[in-house]
Amino acid sequence: MAKTFTITEFFRRFPDDDACLAHLMKVRYGDTLDCLKCGKHGHFSRLKKLPAYSCPWCGHHIHPMQGTPFERSRTPLQKWFYAMYLFTTTRNGVAAKELQRQLGVTYKTAWRIGHEIRKYMAWVDGDSPLGGSGIVEVDKAYIGGRRRPEEKFDNKTMVLGMVERDGEIITRIVRSRRFDEAASHFVANVKQGARVASDESTTFINISRLGFRHQWVNHAKKEWVRGEVHTNTIEGFWAWLKRGINGTHVWISAKHMPKYLGEFEFRFNLRNSPNLMFDFLLAAFPRP
Ligand SMILES: [Zn+2]
Repeated sequence: MAKTFTITEFFRRFPDDDACLAHLMKVRYGDTLDCLKCGKHGHFSRLKKLPAYSCPWCGHHIHPMQGTPFERSRTPLQKWFYAMYLFTTTRNGVAAKELQRQLGVTYKTAWRIGHEIRKYMAWVDGDSPLGGSGIVEVDKAYIGGRRRPEEKFDNKTMVLGMVERDGEIITRIVRSRRFDEAASHFVANVKQGARVASDESTTFINISRLGFRHQWVNHAKKEWVRGEVHTNTIEGFWAWLKRGINGTHVWISAKHMPKYLGEFEFRFNLRNSPNLMFDFLLAAFPRP
């Protein structure tokens, strides 16, 4: 196990904006590269007045922030990096208030940075189809929201979760308990023929018709485990997600829920090597 990535180490690696820009340049383009304009190979050098590098042969510019969440942001790059550090060294997420305080930016800016990082985490995480080797557990849960005094029901978001045991998780927001809405997500995200475990909910009752080997436990009859059939992994994820969201955020609307789900999927999928999260995020920017 590698040691925890400390704040001292963060500032040693990224003492200023220039160090962050140099890092972006290196992971996205390499130390030397073939110029897109003149085709010659060389080491691009940093321009003094722009966050950019130029070709030693023809002067063509490369902007390492282009196509990243930092593009067009007025917030200094080091603050973005530090925000990513905070996101990857917490288990339960980072509230906008906390970002505001730690980064010394306005609440609005902190809120935006948080959402950009969540989107980026979700993008880095990706969604490869589940069910290659392990049993896929499926379940649904009601997440976020809060009950206002004038409302009869709380406005939680219904989320469908699919997790491969010892593998990755994929979540999707659904609007109804009906089977056909969930079905399209199973077909898109779980490999044909995979073993699928659920509870007795009618949302899952026809899964075998979609070409999956479906077995379920009957929670209503207090049957939690039958041999390999159970939903403990996905329920563990829900418990952690609810704890994280309720403990960190006042409330989350359905509109923004996908970003929070993406953030927690990313963390869950790297659960066995949390110390690698930061470097993983820092190295995954889209290649130009
Ligand atoms: Zn060139």
